Amino acid sequence: LGQRIHTTEHRDEFSRLAGTFNEMLASLQTAWDSQQRFVGDASHELRAPLTVLRGNAQLLRRHPHLDAGERDLMLADIEKDASRMARLVDDLLLLAQSDAGSTLRRSPVSLRATAAEAIRDARRLSAAHTVHLHAPEDPFMVAGEKDRLRQLLLILLDNALKYSPAGTAVTVGIHREGERTVLTVTDQGPGIPPEALPHIFERFYRVDQARTRTSGGAGLGLAIAQWIAGQLGGSLHVAQTGPDGTRFALSLQAEPGTALPLSP
Ligand code: ADP
Repeated sequence: LGQRIHTTEHRDEFSRLAGTFNEMLASLQTAWDSQQRFVGDASHELRAPLTVLRGNAQLLRRHPHLDAGERDLMLADIEKDASRMARLVDDLLLLAQSDAGSTLRRSPVSLRATAAEAIRDARRLSAAHTVHLHAPEDPFMVAGEKDRLRQLLLILLDNALKYSPAGTAVTVGIHREGERTVLTVTDQGPGIPPEALPHIFERFYRVDQARTRTSGGAGLGLAIAQWIAGQLGGSLHVAQTGPDGTRFALSLQAEPGTALPLSP
């Protein structure tokens, strides 16, 4: 009898080990599958501008006597596609770094000053919109890496401009909620459909493939923005969306003891 109990214990131990091993295999398989999908999607995104770029270069070579206007247009197209590819490669590198476990260094930075810089960049992106900052006179110190924080804000602003009609306003607001500092970006665009909401932070996801492709987005912006927010110890979510517009909210831990006025 003693020996039978002994054998049963061994069998239990063995099936537990087998179970753990199978779980490890399954999660490795999932990671491998998602990596494969990432490489496939990335290649697909790079191929599109590359094809146009090569086509334009071949045309220019075959028709050396095009008039100056046509030549200029084609060269401008080549430049645009090359910039789009460069942006895409930067985004892919950042996501690959995040997959490899790379982390951001955090030091005190003024959210207000960083937002003001991002707004300046955004105004250069579109002359057809107005961009406002609504925030009390406070530096709103948070812990972060300034360049990445600015990149996150610019992704939200760029989307707000891309997806809302000309002549509308985009508003950046900053306020405190207890221990946290919340920055919002609000637009007057068409909103995000409810069925798309669970997916917008996924890599390469676009609500409308055709519409966003013409505006150049690869569907990586929000994935990057959410990774940066997480690295800064914060969170990023859609606070409100509907036919009157969308509001994204970035919530960060306020740096203690820094609620000083900017000027007397
Ligand atoms: P993209 O490069 O396509 O802009 P993002 O990851 O930044 O990729 O956004 C994912 C999708 O979410 C976009 O393709 C767009 O359909 C939708 N989206 C993002 N921001 C907004 C917004 N402010 N208003 C409406 N739709 C938005």
